[in-house]
Amino acid sequence: MAEPFLIKMPQLSDTMSEGTIVSWEKAIGDFISRGTVVATVETDKAIMDVEVFREGYLSGPLAAAGSTVPVGTPIATLVPEPAEVGHAAAVSSPAAMAAAPSAAAPPEGQPVLMPQLSDTMSEGTVVSWEKAIGDFISRGTVVATVETDKAIMDVEVFREGYLSGPRVAAGSMVPVGTPIAFLVADASAAKDGVLAAAPSAAPPKAAPPAPAPVPAGSAQPKTRAPAMPHGATPAPRPHKGTATPYARQLAGAHGIDINSLPGTGPGGCITATDVVGAGGGPRVQAKRIFQVPGAGRPMDSMEKAVSQNMEYSLSMPLFRVTVYIDPARLSRAAKDLKASLTVLLAAAAARAIERHPRVNSVYQHEDRIVERDQIDVGLAVETEGMGLVVPVLRNVLKRTIGDLNAQWKDLVVRARLKRLKPEEYSNPTFTISNMGMLGVAQFDAIPVPGTSAIFAIASTQPLGMPVTITADHRIVNGAEAAKFLNTFKALVEDPQWLATSASGAARSLSGGQTMASADPAGAGVLPADTSGYDCDVLVIGGGPGGEDCARELADHGRRVIMVNDAPLPGGECLWRGCIPSKSWRAAADRIRDRRHDADLGVLNTAEPALDWGRLDAMRRRVLTTRGEMALKTDKGVRIDVREGYAYFDSDHSVVIAPADGGSPYERRAPKPGAAGTRITFAGAVIATGAPPFVPPIPGADGKAVLTSDTVWNLDAPPARLVIVGAGAIGLEMAQIFVDFGCVVTVLEARDRVLPEVEGEVATQLAALLAREERLTIVTSAAVRGIDGPPGAAVVRYAAGTSEHTVDADYVLLATGKRPVTGPLALERAGVETERGAIVVNAHCQTNVPHIFAVGDVVGGYMLAHTAGHQGRVAAQTLLGHEAAYDERKDCGVIFTRPQAAFVGLSAEQARAQGHDPAEIKVPFSIDAKAMITGETAGFIKMVADKATRRILGVHFLADHADTLIGSAVLMVSAELTLDQVASAIHPHPTQTELFGDLARRLLARLRRTARVSG
Ligand SMILES: Cc1cc2nc3c(=O)[nH]c(=O)nc-3n(C[C@H](O)[C@H](O)[C@H](O)COP(=O)(O)OP(=O)(O)OC[C@H]3O[C@@H](n4cnc5c(N)ncnc54)[C@H](O)[C@@H]3O)c2cc1C
Repeated sequence: MAEPFLIKMPQLSDTMSEGTIVSWEKAIGDFISRGTVVATVETDKAIMDVEVFREGYLSGPLAAAGSTVPVGTPIATLVPEPAEVGHAAAVSSPAAMAAAPSAAAPPEGQPVLMPQLSDTMSEGTVVSWEKAIGDFISRGTVVATVETDKAIMDVEVFREGYLSGPRVAAGSMVPVGTPIAFLVADASAAKDGVLAAAPSAAPPKAAPPAPAPVPAGSAQPKTRAPAMPHGATPAPRPHKGTATPYARQLAGAHGIDINSLPGTGPGGCITATDVVGAGGGPRVQAKRIFQVPGAGRPMDSMEKAVSQNMEYSLSMPLFRVTVYIDPARLSRAAKDLKASLTVLLAAAAARAIERHPRVNSVYQHEDRIVERDQIDVGLAVETEGMGLVVPVLRNVLKRTIGDLNAQWKDLVVRARLKRLKPEEYSNPTFTISNMGMLGVAQFDAIPVPGTSAIFAIASTQPLGMPVTITADHRIVNGAEAAKFLNTFKALVEDPQWLATSASGAARSLSGGQTMASADPAGAGVLPADTSGYDCDVLVIGGGPGGEDCARELADHGRRVIMVNDAPLPGGECLWRGCIPSKSWRAAADRIRDRRHDADLGVLNTAEPALDWGRLDAMRRRVLTTRGEMALKTDKGVRIDVREGYAYFDSDHSVVIAPADGGSPYERRAPKPGAAGTRITFAGAVIATGAPPFVPPIPGADGKAVLTSDTVWNLDAPPARLVIVGAGAIGLEMAQIFVDFGCVVTVLEARDRVLPEVEGEVATQLAALLAREERLTIVTSAAVRGIDGPPGAAVVRYAAGTSEHTVDADYVLLATGKRPVTGPLALERAGVETERGAIVVNAHCQTNVPHIFAVGDVVGGYMLAHTAGHQGRVAAQTLLGHEAAYDERKDCGVIFTRPQAAFVGLSAEQARAQGHDPAEIKVPFSIDAKAMITGETAGFIKMVADKATRRILGVHFLADHADTLIGSAVLMVSAELTLDQVASAIHPHPTQTELFGDLARRLLARLRRTARVSG
C-alpha cells in the first residue's frame, strides 16, 4: 500500500503562520483531482481556498472546522484507493461530525442526513417535505422541515443534485446523522419510494410497534443513551490527552467519566464516537428501570426533552425556601410602564442575583463551580399542547425594561408557534416559573440542568404572593437562599430602582413614560436631611479616585470635603505614577524612534543624547502645572479641599491630623491617632490608594533599593539597574532605562511576564523584549537578598536549581502595590477588609451602606482610570443614580514598545464566563502605515461571542495601542456587535481600519462555519 499523502496547511501569504479551517468543501471518500479545492481557510488577511495538486481519495482524520492549525501541519490525507479511506477516523468537532456525509456515496446517491440543529437535538421528526422527488436542489435549498426538541427548523442542503428516494415519510422520527433522502446527479436516476423503517431507535409515530407485554415491576437495562439534556455542562477536560468539545458535552450530559474512555481520534483524542460507543450503544452503566404494563406510545421530542431534563435534575440535592411578597407596587409599575409583570419580576430577580451572585453559579461535574457574570433569566411559558417552554432573556441587568419587554413579547409569540431558535431557549442561568395566573396556592419547581435555582411564583393570597426558591445545595446554602429571597422581596415591594435602573423605564420606553425621575440632588444612600453633619460626603484622598468622586458630587450640588495628605491633588498618578513615567517614556521614545529615521531618508539623527537635568525639569513643570490646575478646578466647583491625614473616629466622623509640610512629589507617612480636627459626614468615600509593596527580601531596605515612590529622586540614569518584577511598572521602567542606555536585568518570580495581559500578547512581548540589547529578563527567579550600597549593589537570586548574583548600581522593586488600611482605623467605622483591601460591591459600597471605597485601596486593577470611574460610580450611587463598576469592560495599557493593551475579556476569560467565543487577529506586518514607520511588530486580536456576535474584548500588542484602544473601549463598553463595527466607516489610511477588517473577517468565518455545520 502506497504511503498516504499529507494535505498540509498551506502558507497562503507572506505573513501567514497559521490558518483557521472555515469549511471542508470535500467529504471523506471524495475523489480529489488535481487543482480541486478541498477546504477554505482563514488566513491573517482573508478567507482563501486550499487547493490540492495530487490525485487521490480524501481520507480522515480531518482537522475540525473552526480549528486553527500552524502552517505546514497536516489537515487531512489523500489515499490512492477508496478501500484505504479512513472512514472511521474521528473528526474533532460536533459541527464537522454533524455535517460530514458518509464517505462513499451509496448506490442510492449522496445521502441527505438528519442535521443536528441544536446542541440538545439527538433526533428530529420530519414535519414536511418542501421539495419533491426529482426536483433540482441547488446549494442552500431547504428540502424539508424538521421538528427538534423545541422548534420546527429547516433542513438545508449544501450540495447540488436531484432529490431522490427512498426518503422517510413525513411524521417519522429519525436520529441525527441518518439519511432522510438522497441526491443523485441525474434527474432520470431519481427514484421514488419510502425509507420504510425510519432508522430511529424510536419508531415512527405513525406505526408504533407493539412491545411485548412485560409484567409490572420487572426491571430491564436501558439500551439507549438519553438525548443531550438541555443546558447540560460539558465534562471537564480529561486528566490525560484530549477530548473533542462535543465528546465532553456528551459525556457531561450523560454523566460519563471521560477519563475512563479510550480515545480513538487523532493522537488518542476522545471523540463523541468513543463516548457513545462504537456500536451505537452508550457506555453508561446499565440502569434499572421500572416497567409499566401496557403498550405505551412514543414520547414526542418535547416530552422526551422535558423528562430527560427532569431525570437529570434528580441528581441535584434540592431544598426549598418560601417568602410571601406584596406585588402591588410592582404590578402598578408594570401597568404604568405598559410592561409585562413577568419582565419586571425577571429584572428584579437579576438585580437580586447581582447582590447574591452565588445563585448565578452552577455545579460542574465533578468538583468545579462555574461562576457567571451575565444573568440570563429563563421564564417558563405555557403553550397550548406543548407544555412549558422557557425562552431566555439574556443579560437582563444591562438592558432597559423597554428592550426586555419588546423581546419578551416576540419570544412568547414565537414560543407558542414553536418557532424559537435553540439559542433563544437554551442555557438560562436562572429560571422563573410564574403560575400566579393559574390560581395555584403554592408549588415548587425543579431547576433545569445548567442552573442552581428556580423561582416558583404562585397566586397572591392574603399573606401575599408566595415565592418559593428551589436551589441546588451544592452551590447555594439555606441562608444565602433566604437572603437572596429577601433582597428580591425588597426590590418587588419597593420598585424605586425602576426609575433609575439601567433596565429602567426612563431611558427605555418610547413615548417618554417615566415612573419617577431620579432626584439629581440625591434620594440615594444619603439621608434627606444632612444638615446635622459637617458635610454631605467626606472624600478621603485626592488622587484620581477621590478627585473624580468629589467633583461628581459637587457638580450635583452636594457639600463635599476632600481631605488629601499632600499639598496638591493628583495622588500617585500625577506625582509618582502615570504622568512622570510617561514623561520619561516620551524621552525614551524619541531616542528609540531615531533608529527608523534613516529608513525614511532622514539622516544624522542616529546618536541622540539624553540631558537628564532638562528632562527632570520638564517632568516637574508638567506635574506642578497639572497639580495647581487641579486644585483651582476643585476649589472652583466648590469642593472644600483640606490638607491633612484623615482616620476614622466613628462610622460618621473622622479626625483630620494636620499636615506638617513636605513636597507633593513624596508620599507622606500615615499619622494614625494624631490630634486634629473632627469632621462629621453623612456619607464617606475612601480613596487612599496603595503604596508600592516591598516584599520581605533581606536587604530590601538598603540604600541602593528604590521603589516607584523613590525612583524619581535619581540624579542620573544608573549604568546598571536590576528590576525585581515583570509587571506593568517593571517592564515599562526596564525598557525606558534600556533606551536611556542602561544595562537592565529584570527578575520575575512567576514563569511569565504581565499576568493580567492576554496570553499571546504577553508571550510575544516577552519574545520581542528578549531581542533587546542591554535587557535580560529572567522568569521563575526567586530573589534571595540584596547587599551593598548604590553603585555596588549585588542581587542574589535562585533560578531553577542554581544560585546566581547580578551586580547593579541600583535595584528597583516593582513588586506590585498593596493597600495599607491599618492607620485608617476602619474598625471604628465597622468597615470590612480582606487581606488589607477594602471589600466593596459593584457600586463601590462597603459593608457600611453610607461608606464607599474606590481605586487602588479596593484592589483589582490598580489603574488611574479604574479609580476615576469607581469614584464616579460611588458618587452616582450616593446620589441615588444607578451605576456600577464592571471589571469585564475595564482596560489597560502597558507603555512598553510595542505597547501591550487590553479591553474586556480574552477568549479564555470569555469561555470561563460561559460565552462561546471566537477570536480573530491581524498582524501589523501587513499594515502599510506600520511598514512606513517600521512599527510592524505585534497584532490586534478581537474576541466576540459567537451567538450574539457581541464584541467581548480587544487585545493589542502594537505601537500606538494607547490611541487605537479608544475605539475598542467604545465597542466593548457599548456592547457593539461585529456587524456594527463591520459596517462603520473607518478613515483611511489609519490603523482603525483594521477594526472593520477584523469584524468583517470574523463575520465571514462565522457565517461560513454556521452554513457548513447546518
Ligand atoms: C510608576 C507607575 C506608573 C503608573 N502608570 C499608570 C498608567 O500608565 N496608567 C494607569 O492607569 N495607572 C498607572 N499607575 C497606577 C496609578 O497611579 C494608580 O492606580 C492611581 O493613582 C490610583 O488612584 P487612587 O485615587 O486610588 O489613589 P492615589 O492616586 O494613590 O491617591 C491617593 C491619595 O490619597 C492620599 N491619602 C492616602 N491616605 C490618606 C489619608 N488617610 N488621609 C488623606 N489623604 C490620604 C494620598 O496622599 C494620595 O494623594 C501607575 C503607577 C505607578 C507607580
